[in-house]
Amino acid sequence: MLTGAAAAGAAGVVGAIAFENQSEAATAPKAAQPTRESVELTWFGTHAWQIRCGKSVVLTDPWLTRFHTGTFTPEGADPKTKLVIKPEVIDRHLSTADAILVHHGHYDHMADVPYVAKKTQATVLCTETHANMLRAMKTPNDLLSPVRGGEYLPFEGFAIEVFPSLHSCGGKRHTYAYPGYRYDVPPRPRVIEDLVEGGTLAFVITIGGLRILSLSTANFDPNALRGLQVDVVLAAPGGEPGITDRLLQTIKPVRKVIATHWDDFDKPLDDPGIPWTDLTPLRTSVEKTGAEFVILDHLQQVTL
Ligand SMILES: [Zn+2]
Repeated sequence: MLTGAAAAGAAGVVGAIAFENQSEAATAPKAAQPTRESVELTWFGTHAWQIRCGKSVVLTDPWLTRFHTGTFTPEGADPKTKLVIKPEVIDRHLSTADAILVHHGHYDHMADVPYVAKKTQATVLCTETHANMLRAMKTPNDLLSPVRGGEYLPFEGFAIEVFPSLHSCGGKRHTYAYPGYRYDVPPRPRVIEDLVEGGTLAFVITIGGLRILSLSTANFDPNALRGLQVDVVLAAPGGEPGITDRLLQTIKPVRKVIATHWDDFDKPLDDPGIPWTDLTPLRTSVEKTGAEFVILDHLQQVTL
């Protein structure tokens, strides 16, 4: 267990990708100089990110409620843990959004989406299985936009590219929790095992001239991401050995990798994040490529 990683990583927040250089912009040919505007990333634990540029707001897997599951105890999570939503927690931190990107269907990614979608009226990009589970949780159907991977979706102020992806796996059988699909609207999900993985997606968010690859687990589809060019990657620890090395060999070199989903989510969002695993392998993989490794703490922001 790496303690104090949040504190050690805080310095990384300071180093931000260069803002548009005014004098350069004036002399360079226009077509070669994509407009860079400030992009602000805020972390709400797990894979819950708010990405904002001007008035445009994109949310990834906005799960802020958090409740005790036992996930990081030797006994593991109790699959019968009841799903709850705490509007007072969500309302404290989230107000508007244009798009909600659902990366996979597990409760720590999707359980708050019905509330956040209704509140913000954002477009929810997700798989058909996620959409069926969200319908069962009374998410307004007209907000749901099922995708499969391969889509390029222009929004006002940003664009979203969707990629097929894979959930991280582990153990002797290389498995993960609560696999499965829902081809029809199921009975209303009541406990955490009711929210099955339902396919995993990766997204590239192009916003303010910055390209951000968002991965919700320590896995990816190499065929989908080969040769991909982005500026920033949101990457999770864990998964099979060497997974981040393979990711960074698959895509083109990146400048910055920001750690995601590294905190013990049974612990409160208002407290500093406690790593659920040693973050050294992730940091080492990143730094040996020459990229900057950044860790934000709960509720912290970085401007890129
Ligand atoms: Zn998951």
